[in-house]
Amino acid sequence: MDYLSTRGTAPTLDFRGVTLAGLASDGGLYVPRSWPRFSPADIEAMADTSYAETAFRVMRPFVEGCLSDEALHRLIDDAYGDFGHAAVTPLVQLDSRHWLLELFHGPTLAFKDVALQLLGGLFGHFLGKDERITIVGATSGDTGSAAIEAVAGRPGITIFMLHPAGRVSDVQRRQMTTVLAGNVHNIAVDGSFDDCQALVKRLFNDAPFRAEQSLSAVNSINWARLLAQIVYYFHAGARLGAPHRKVSFSVPTGNFGDVFAGYAAARMGLPVGRLLVATNVNDILARALNAGDYSVGSVTPTATPSMDIQVSSNFERLLFDLHGRDGAALADTMRHFEETGRMALSDAQRAEAASLFLAERVDETRMMQTLAWAHSECGEVIDPHTAIGLGAARAREQDLQGPIVTLATAHPAKFPDAVERACGIRPPLPRRVQHLFDREERYDHLAADAEALKAYIRERT
Ligand SMILES: *Cc1c(COP(=O)(O)O)cnc(C)c1O
Repeated sequence: MDYLSTRGTAPTLDFRGVTLAGLASDGGLYVPRSWPRFSPADIEAMADTSYAETAFRVMRPFVEGCLSDEALHRLIDDAYGDFGHAAVTPLVQLDSRHWLLELFHGPTLAFKDVALQLLGGLFGHFLGKDERITIVGATSGDTGSAAIEAVAGRPGITIFMLHPAGRVSDVQRRQMTTVLAGNVHNIAVDGSFDDCQALVKRLFNDAPFRAEQSLSAVNSINWARLLAQIVYYFHAGARLGAPHRKVSFSVPTGNFGDVFAGYAAARMGLPVGRLLVATNVNDILARALNAGDYSVGSVTPTATPSMDIQVSSNFERLLFDLHGRDGAALADTMRHFEETGRMALSDAQRAEAASLFLAERVDETRMMQTLAWAHSECGEVIDPHTAIGLGAARAREQDLQGPIVTLATAHPAKFPDAVERACGIRPPLPRRVQHLFDREERYDHLAADAEALKAYIRERT
């Protein structure tokens, strides 16, 4: 399998190349040249396989030529072997229509571990003995800790993680800043998550700096992350009756990464009823899909910080298909978007997207009501991000075919204040992370300034 840039001019790369590069050199994102297809019999067989075996079958066509079967098996076992639940991503039934897919049993209690535990292993596997890379990332909360956990102490890798100062929860911050490994550097930036993300983009677009540091990305623009996320759509879908019936998914969405993995699963043959893009009040995606209006507003902080973003980087991967995979045309569109902060989807593009996607915006009140409903009616304490997904799923259930799976993206103990406000219960941290509040923290403050950030990085690599 080789991979193309969505902007058409960067060289095509193999799986090793896209894993180490992250962003393409023309500013685009890498996508596979074609989608491997699974037959109904292949999918039926996944109803009985372990998570690790499903992962092997789903990932194999994407990594062929770069990883032996043996290496792939070993990387999968290393990534998922110490999740806190034997099923890795268990399904929980809520009522006759609704299920939760719990993706938060990894070491940092959010779904990003599913992808980053694998990515850390891939970096380790692909880096030569004398090679070194510098990872620079921006986090709205959960990516940072999952990435740090995945690479702390790994030789050849130095990681710099930017978070918006004061805008991540205490648990989220401590999960990053209490990791004292010498290759880990946390930076609190005076600004929003979008400011952090823009800084990272500036560094990646600075070709000499990028080459000098061998910059690499761990945010969800990295293809390998999305690949790891395709797995659980198949795993859950097959358990709920695919290929014999369609299954719908509601996905609490920020950067459009997780839901794009669902799109990939559908392109690969999984019978998906609908993918419901669930947003909080930062609703650029709901506006784009429902009204064709992809325009940047300002960010409103909410109780779901991991979705408090305006520009959804992975949306570009869907736009590539909506532009008939014409990289030059999409490069024009993106250039215009980057200059003006707005983009209009044509009616034809919107109709094409609507054949698979629905979008729903869930405000803070409905999020809290949904969280309380899950507790009082189903006995489940869920986190606010999951409540956005479930709130959207319940609001649109007439429009969704088959069983509806809401992706439960974080453990409720990561957001105890919001959970307590909604349902009166303060969820305890699972035993394996109870040490967080006893440990020393280490991080630095920087202004949102690319030159200052470059100097900071150069001093430490
Ligand atoms: C990152 C994150 C999301 C959003 O996922 P995207 O792939 O960026 O759409 C939702 N919920 C939680 C808890 C997250 O950490």
